[in-house]
This record gives sequence, structure tokens and C-alpha cells, in this order.
Amino acid sequence: MTETRLFMDNFYVLDDGRVRQFLIVGTDEALLIDTGFEDSGVYEAVRKITDLPVKVIMTHGDGDHSGGLKEFGRCRLNEADWHLAEGRGAKLEPLNEGDVFECGGYRLEAIAIPGHTYGSMAFIDRAKRLLLPGDSVQKEGPIFMFGEDRNLDLFIESEKKLCALADRVDTIIPCHSSYPIGPEYIGRDLEDAEMLKAGKLTGEKHAFLPCCSYKGKWTEFYYD
Ligand SMILES: [Zn+2]
Repeated sequence: MTETRLFMDNFYVLDDGRVRQFLIVGTDEALLIDTGFEDSGVYEAVRKITDLPVKVIMTHGDGDHSGGLKEFGRCRLNEADWHLAEGRGAKLEPLNEGDVFECGGYRLEAIAIPGHTYGSMAFIDRAKRLLLPGDSVQKEGPIFMFGEDRNLDLFIESEKKLCALADRVDTIIPCHSSYPIGPEYIGRDLEDAEMLKAGKLTGEKHAFLPCCSYKGKWTEFYYD
């Protein structure tokens, strides 16, 4: 069941213990970032907080983020991830770098960070020094990097892009593992990803997923 926590003014963290979403409540509209698994009950959790119309914007299209789309009807999602969310029963609308969403005193700007998926997006509020990186920056991980929808080279480039913003951020709230975390984790995840690419991490076969677990100094990757 999804639990809700008022984390900052008008900003709620929704968390079912597996994945989290973010709800910003404004005066005329609410803004929801991601929708959880199909069985997370995110719609019910949102409706306990607000009756306002809800605009949904997506960090990416993986099933643990797009599973609850149906009840919201539509969402903004980068087109490179549409194939992951088609069939979820929601109308998909484009989301691109530079798109800005204002709600409840927040101003979220979309940044393209392909790699974890080809359509992965982060959202930054520069005034509040807040970064929502989806799954692409995490403390412990695992960061899923196996299968055809992932690209480690692009992931590394995207971590570098986020690194350039690290001094403009104080608070990072990932969708998995610990939160909040500091901007130092961008560089730490980059360091681990570069070690993974260089073949310097040792993989252990995962018990049931078709991948290996690679533990870096800071975070874990699931990789082919
Ligand atoms: Zn995820």
C-alpha cells in the first residue's frame, strides 16, 4: 500500500516500499510525477490528498512508474519510452528537454537523461535546488541496466550532464532506495558506472532476473 508523506511545502512523497512518486498540490491543479506499479494504489493515495485535476509527468516508462497510468487518463512521457507505456490505457503526450511545469510554488524543468531507458527524464527545480532523477541517481541501487531498453554509454553521458548541475542542487529524491540524498551521489554513480563499463566490477548471477549484480563502491547495477 502506498504511504504518503508531506516532505516539503505542497510536496508529497508517495511510497509503497518498492517505488515512489511525487505529488505537488497547487491551487487549481496538482502535478504528479510517476504513477507506480499497477497494484501500488497511487490513484487512491493521490485522491486522499487532493480532489484537484492531476497532471502526470513521467521520469520514464518502466512498469514500476507507468503501471498506474490508466486512472489518470493521460501523461507526458518522452517519446523514446512510449513503447514501454503503450497498452497502459492512458493517452501519451510528448515530454521533452526544457519543458517546464509550474505548480504549488515549484517550477520543474525537464532534462533528458537517456541511459536507464532511452526516454529517461530528470526534473530540476533550480530555485528550490531540488532534483528528481527518476532511477538514474540512487544511493544503494540497484540501478537496472540490463536488457534492450538500456544503454550504459548514454547513461554515463547523462550522469556527466547531471554532474554539471550538481552545484545547483542540495536535495535529490530518487524513485528507489534511500531518500533524500545529496548531489555527491551523481558523481559517485558516475564513478561506479565508469568502473562497470571498464569491466572493473565483478558480477554475480542474479537469483531470478536475467542479469548479474555488480556492486560498485557506492551503488549496485543490474547489468547483462
Ligand atoms: Zn524504477
